Amino acid sequence: MLNNLPTHIICHYSEIGLKGKNRSYFEKRLKDNIKQILDVNSPDSYVSILRLRGRFLIELTEIGQKSVSIIKETLKNVFGLAYFAFAFKSLPDLGIIKSDSIELMQRLEFESFRVTARRIDNKFPYTSQEINEEVGAEILEKLNKTVNLNYPEAICFIDVLDEGTFLFIEKIQAVKGLPVGVSGTATVMLSGGIDSPVAAYYAMKRGMRVIYVHFHSIPLVSEASVEKVRDTVEILKKYQPSSKLYLMKFAPIQQQIMVDCNEKLRMVLYRRYMLKIAEKVAEIENAKAIYTGEALGQVASQTIENITVVEESVGLPIMRPLIGFDKVEIIAKAIEIGTYEISILPHEDCCTLYVPKHPATKARLIDVQQNEALLDSDALISEALKTAEIEMID
Ligand code: ATP
Ligand code: MG
Repeated sequence: MLNNLPTHIICHYSEIGLKGKNRSYFEKRLKDNIKQILDVNSPDSYVSILRLRGRFLIELTEIGQKSVSIIKETLKNVFGLAYFAFAFKSLPDLGIIKSDSIELMQRLEFESFRVTARRIDNKFPYTSQEINEEVGAEILEKLNKTVNLNYPEAICFIDVLDEGTFLFIEKIQAVKGLPVGVSGTATVMLSGGIDSPVAAYYAMKRGMRVIYVHFHSIPLVSEASVEKVRDTVEILKKYQPSSKLYLMKFAPIQQQIMVDCNEKLRMVLYRRYMLKIAEKVAEIENAKAIYTGEALGQVASQTIENITVVEESVGLPIMRPLIGFDKVEIIAKAIEIGTYEISILPHEDCCTLYVPKHPATKARLIDVQQNEALLDSDALISEALKTAEIEMID
């Protein structure tokens, strides 16, 4: 007799299967991430998470068995997972596998089907192909359906593992990528606009644990950008459940730049100071890189000349995962990950403060450096760090 509800989840990794010596480190991190995200979104849902060769086996509690839809949405967003399936425990006995398969398939509406068996347990006396044929013949006869190997309406998956025999009927695709944290830590410059949350997504997708840094000009502008950024991080929690957000006061720096520097260079100078401060945050957090949402040529500050001049202000690598994206592509991704709705809410961007009508699109480093020499950079930066507000969003 098959349980009414799925008893287990079989999870398959994405690329981490390929990572040679690092494999066990990657697997451990992925397992910890799965645990953490399930604990947050669906508490008390699992009995155990077993690390098997190439996959994880999660045994569900009764609570977990009843939380399939929440768990499904949760696991879909775990970077490092390729796909997973809610599975029903059967027994390593061909007769029982047959009757359980019939029972499971009877719960579905379909005409054509196939069986996809995978025998890992070599003690089981039938090969994968023999299981396919035996169980297929049984379904054909008892349920009066047709076999279609290439385009079946339903698939009966049978995994005969050392740890047990499992049946399932749906593979659920997950986000793939690498487990958050395996690549180290990075700071992400989060602006309140559309692009930077998408950049954060791609940072996490390749295994970065991210720390968010936002610059605001309160009290010169409203708190809207800060609230948007908080809400954005809240959405991005589905990829990284616990996040730190640094809120940095930028108005004093902007005012100093306005007073002392060439107005055409303001935008570039703002960016340089943002990066210098983000680099200090990175140092505190032991982060190895700074991510931004820049895309080449999108706005005046993102010409290759200005990017070059801005980049010169720091030593850490600046990662720009969106550099080759068109705006429509970024928007499509922002919609997909769920940040777009928040990003398009109105807010006054700190960078639009005191910006001239015609900012330099090809700032020269020498001019920028001469202007910067007029400022007390160390004092401005250390004041920004001293007055930073740090929030945990979890
Ligand atoms: P976004 O949609 O992310 O705001 P954008 O198209 O508006 O990007 P810019 O405003 O030029 O482009 O910003 C480029 C990048 O610089 C942003 O993606 C972000 O990483 C960083 N940035 C800009 N403003 C801020 C800010 N106030 N706080 C933190 N980072 C910022
Ligand atoms: Mg912006």
